[in-house]
Amino acid sequence: MNTGTYLMPTAAYIHIPFCRQRCFYCDFPIAVTGLQSLTLDGWVGEYVEAVCREIAGQQHQGQPLQTVFFGGGTPSLLPIAGLEKILTTVHKHFGIAMEAEISMEIDPGTFDQVQLQGYKNLGINRFSLGVQAFQDNLLALCGRHHCRRDIDQALTAIAKENIKNWSLDLITGIPEQTEADWHRSLTLALVAGPKHISCYDLVLEPQTVFDKWEQRGKLAVPPPERSADFYRHGQEVLTQAGFYHYEISNYGRPGHQCRHNQIYWRNLPYYGLGMGATSYIDGKRFGRPRTRNGYYQWLESWLNQGCPIPGETVSPLENLLESLMLGLRLTAGVTWAQLPSVNQTEKAKILATLTSFGDRRWLEFYGEDNQLLSTKQVTGATLQRFCLTDPEGFLYSNQILSALFAALEEDC
Ligand code: SF4
Repeated sequence: MNTGTYLMPTAAYIHIPFCRQRCFYCDFPIAVTGLQSLTLDGWVGEYVEAVCREIAGQQHQGQPLQTVFFGGGTPSLLPIAGLEKILTTVHKHFGIAMEAEISMEIDPGTFDQVQLQGYKNLGINRFSLGVQAFQDNLLALCGRHHCRRDIDQALTAIAKENIKNWSLDLITGIPEQTEADWHRSLTLALVAGPKHISCYDLVLEPQTVFDKWEQRGKLAVPPPERSADFYRHGQEVLTQAGFYHYEISNYGRPGHQCRHNQIYWRNLPYYGLGMGATSYIDGKRFGRPRTRNGYYQWLESWLNQGCPIPGETVSPLENLLESLMLGLRLTAGVTWAQLPSVNQTEKAKILATLTSFGDRRWLEFYGEDNQLLSTKQVTGATLQRFCLTDPEGFLYSNQILSALFAALEEDC
């Protein structure tokens, strides 16, 4: 039961794990389908059923949801009837506010205009298109299933269906990606006209194909300084084109920042539903098993126990570290009010650590009335808000966070 101490979630993430093949850099919890078209008979329908049972088991006593996000995996591989069944269950169990943002990830080569119409008819009002790169050689190198022709068809379908609220994902730092490739991808992304663009730097996750190739010396990953130049170039091109760089990897036209993801970055509660999904409810964070069988077994056991809120309560220190780590991803940064559990000792440690970076121009400090403070003016009494600078502070965020974590975890 919700104790009343914590806010009820206003957001739900629903994991749709199906992918035609596993991309070489991906370590997400997915189920590989091959080329077959999916139907709700058999294992796909079984998964939809399981997610609906998990939704129905939640103890929601709050307001209707403000955001719903279908992520994956590749949600556009799921037949529309599957999405409809899940959304109907969400409506019935949680309620969805009239003005809610309902997002869905879609991949080139997995949907057409008729499907887009179907998604819109279900009430889905924001789409995130996983382009990643516009060059066939880079897409093939990454093990992506789609090619440039699929991207062009996807963009045509989006334009013909008059979709306004959509985002386009790109990846930087792909092996063999040149500066010219990156510039061209940015240019073509802008021509396509999305309201939101995400640029993710490629990370070599353990046990992925890319990680194994790199360990065998078969993959030339760009050195950090080159990746940093890609980042700076993306920031320059997109902000000059009128996009607001509101989060370390995300850019939006005015009024088009992703509302759902901001729940994560503000360390607010949310439901996570489906295989591998993480939830944050009543102060407890919980990652579900990452395989279908593991998820089904957990689900049965959770239902049999009467659907308790899963996970361990996050300690005040963990909560503080998470709020800092997530909040500093945002251009707006962090205010003391967003760190309700911070005590005076922790506040002093945060101030000392942050001001030690001041001269490097990686951070900015603001006082009353949003007035910019010099490092020397920063005290516990004057400081109201602090943020990383764009792009240099964002580029060095790991160093800043490591220093903050070391200081705050000291003598705990
Ligand atoms: S499409 Fe996305 S989720 Fe699926 S394997 Fe590729 S990166 Fe992973």
